[in-house]
Amino acid sequence: MTSFRKRVIFCDFDGTITNNDNIISIFKHFNPPGWESIKDDILSQRISVRRGVGQMFSLLPSSRKEEIIRYAIDQAEIRPGFEEFIQYCREHGIKLLITSGGIDFFVYPILSRYAIPVEDIYCNGSDFSGETIRIVWPHPCDPHCDVDCGMCKTSVIRSYDSRLYEKIVIGDSITDLAGSKLADFTIARDYLLKKCEELGLVHQPFTTFFDVIDILNGAPLAK
Ligand SMILES: [Mg+2]
Ligand SMILES: [Zn+2]
Repeated sequence: MTSFRKRVIFCDFDGTITNNDNIISIFKHFNPPGWESIKDDILSQRISVRRGVGQMFSLLPSSRKEEIIRYAIDQAEIRPGFEEFIQYCREHGIKLLITSGGIDFFVYPILSRYAIPVEDIYCNGSDFSGETIRIVWPHPCDPHCDVDCGMCKTSVIRSYDSRLYEKIVIGDSITDLAGSKLADFTIARDYLLKKCEELGLVHQPFTTFFDVIDILNGAPLAK
């Protein structure tokens, strides 16, 4: 019966589509005083991702907007096979959604050269009208999530009916783990891979998007 469900993929951006975490790259480069302790607070879960990322960007002056955007776009490296992966999804009638904790000013431009409809890209927003950068959150947690994610991946995943959709998560980090637990199948690297192994979640490892295509082609996905 599962084969009658439509496949939907929820694909992370930072560290999954791009080789590195773009937010971290921006902060390492511009290095505003105080950002590292906020980052540590996020990683140790002392503050939520939404609060922490908001605080970090409030350390950057809006006057440097052009420079920050240019840097973010230029430093991003796309993981091999991504374009072929998009084409594969299109040819096989798979719905591909980008679910990113990144920010619109780099996520949209980096993805603009690929055939992904803007409405299929979920990320956070930005406002440069004040003294410092303000992050805005168009995709907050639904009543089932109390993590204060910022861009809530599980809320997006929950909005797809499991009776109608076979759900696949592709990702790399802690922010993808809750989504993996809701999905039928996870394609993972790095931290997420270790957690999937540890928790016995149905998964396959990947390095490039050519691997992802092979997995989607070959692996009879678990129910
Ligand atoms: Mg990631
Ligand atoms: Zn959430």
